[in-house]
Amino acid sequence: MNSNVNVEFLETDLLIIGGGTAGCLAANRAREIDPEIDVMILEKAHIDRSGCLAAGINAINAYINPGETPRTFLEYVRRDAMGLVREDLVLSIGERLNSVVKKVESWGLPVMKDDNGNYQARGRWNVKIRGESIKPILANRVREVGVRVLNRVNVTSFLKQGDRVTGALGFGVRDGCFYIVKAKATIIATGGAAGLYKPNNDGPAHHKIWYSPFNTGGGYAAGIRIGAEMTSFEMRFIALRVKDIVAPTGTLALGFDAPQVNAYGQRFMAEKFAEMGAEGAPTPIRVYGPTQEIKEGRGPVFMDTTHLSGEKVRELKAAYLDMYPDLVLYWAANNFQPEKEPIEIEGTEPYLVGGHAQAGYWINARRETTLPGLFAAGDVAGGAPYKFVSGCWVEGEIAAESALEYINSTSEVEQLSISQIDKEKERIFTPISTIDGIKAEEMEIRLQKIMDEYAGGISRYYEMNEKELLLALRRIRQLKDQLDFLSADDLHQLMNCHEVIDRIEIAEVLIKHLLYRKETRWPAFQSRTDYPEKDDFNWLKFVNSKRVNGQVKIIERPYQKII
Ligand SMILES: Cc1cc2nc3c(=O)[nH]c(=O)nc-3n(C[C@H](O)[C@H](O)[C@H](O)COP(=O)(O)OP(=O)(O)OC[C@H]3O[C@@H](n4cnc5c(N)ncnc54)[C@H](O)[C@@H]3O)c2cc1C
Repeated sequence: MNSNVNVEFLETDLLIIGGGTAGCLAANRAREIDPEIDVMILEKAHIDRSGCLAAGINAINAYINPGETPRTFLEYVRRDAMGLVREDLVLSIGERLNSVVKKVESWGLPVMKDDNGNYQARGRWNVKIRGESIKPILANRVREVGVRVLNRVNVTSFLKQGDRVTGALGFGVRDGCFYIVKAKATIIATGGAAGLYKPNNDGPAHHKIWYSPFNTGGGYAAGIRIGAEMTSFEMRFIALRVKDIVAPTGTLALGFDAPQVNAYGQRFMAEKFAEMGAEGAPTPIRVYGPTQEIKEGRGPVFMDTTHLSGEKVRELKAAYLDMYPDLVLYWAANNFQPEKEPIEIEGTEPYLVGGHAQAGYWINARRETTLPGLFAAGDVAGGAPYKFVSGCWVEGEIAAESALEYINSTSEVEQLSISQIDKEKERIFTPISTIDGIKAEEMEIRLQKIMDEYAGGISRYYEMNEKELLLALRRIRQLKDQLDFLSADDLHQLMNCHEVIDRIEIAEVLIKHLLYRKETRWPAFQSRTDYPEKDDFNWLKFVNSKRVNGQVKIIERPYQKII
């Protein structure tokens, strides 16, 4: 079979893997700086509607509103992330948030203004947008500036010359070609990882989840395999969502002052976490609080919208239509009236994502990974939580600037390693020639059940202890041993096989991180029942990892305070 596969060999100056939020801004910035440079994006889906922004959004969540500064932004991020962030990265994001939003506005993104022409703020760090078409706007810009985009190419690994990354390998999910792309520099921008844990909804609704279900951690897995250093996988992210529909609750809290209440109508957050002051509870606690209410028998939990006027409810629906139309349709179909009934909420399954939490590549301020020639931006890059869409744009720009400097200061890429290419081709296409093996779907169900039950999933109220984690590790390694039996009947199933292979790779690293941090720093996101307290004395530091000779090696990195 493998000898029948068509091979596409391509070359570029700057390769960007992932045509999402960060990838589009990186591509544009590279062509802005040097209109002669050849830039290519390899995108697993279609750039017009791919990744987290596919369905649109209604706010830019990271913006320096009047009265705030990049330093106050860092203070907010540090507090919300329970004291541990890469301050250098967060500050560098804060410094460019506003200019990058202005830039995207100039490409056609409607940012909402007040009567004086100022951006309309939503809370301290957000501005309101009409963002249904945000992704097509970014994609059009990329095409306008002459970037080559190859849609429906799933990247599975990097090309290497010694330690240097010199491009990528992957396969066409529609054409079945084997793609070899040689590049002088590479930016990874594939987003975070969904599908590691059993989700809220199952069966045909299993993709009704918070994160993009098609961001399956391919970028993390490719880096892990070649020994890139990763950080903070143990800081998982769990979103607080409208039950079943999985619509965001930030809109309710920030835009419509809806408090969380339990089944008895008690405002438990205000009561239990009053000591957290006027700024309110940090994001992990806002998931931990309601989860504990349910665990302790006071569920279900809701966001109370019964104080809203008819006019406000119309505004609420308009806000959701811009980012989550399903909710409005569901309400209409079920005759649900938010002014009469509170809205039920729950936590999602945990994800790995560097844009809300901080799991990802360990990078320096130039967004350079620990491997020469490889830069990272957006949700795949670690250390800078709460960067959201605009922070991903900033990181894309910084990564592009650094990659161009790198290209101008290094030697040409030499001959590619044929044995490396042949090995990857074999690895990619083997499931197609495996008859009567295990289907990706079966493997995915097993993975998600192990992670849910032993590594702090929904059914365990996100809690875990060492014994459970050790069992999870054993089970995941058993799954790894079965990967050779994966079989695919067509290209779509082949993609599913690689998605589950990547997630199993990531799950092993995640469990090692969860095992290593012996405290509870981020309740719910990382709740250790055997180490229930936050322990700044011993654990105000980063837990990093790197695969060395097949083993996941943990590395500690110090926390550095700038302000
Ligand atoms: C539901 C949801 C709502 C959000 N709402 C807001 C909001 O209102 N405001 C806000 O500021 N932020 C919001 N965010 C956060 C923001 O959208 C993300 O942080 C940001 O889009 C991440 O950008 P990214 O480029 O890293 O990832 P993405 O934009 O997801 O791009 C990743 C790209 O990589 C591609 N890809 C993945 N794997 C591969 C592979 N193996 N090979 C090739 N390509 C690959 C994907 O198809 C995708 O196009 C939201 C996120 C989600 C999930």
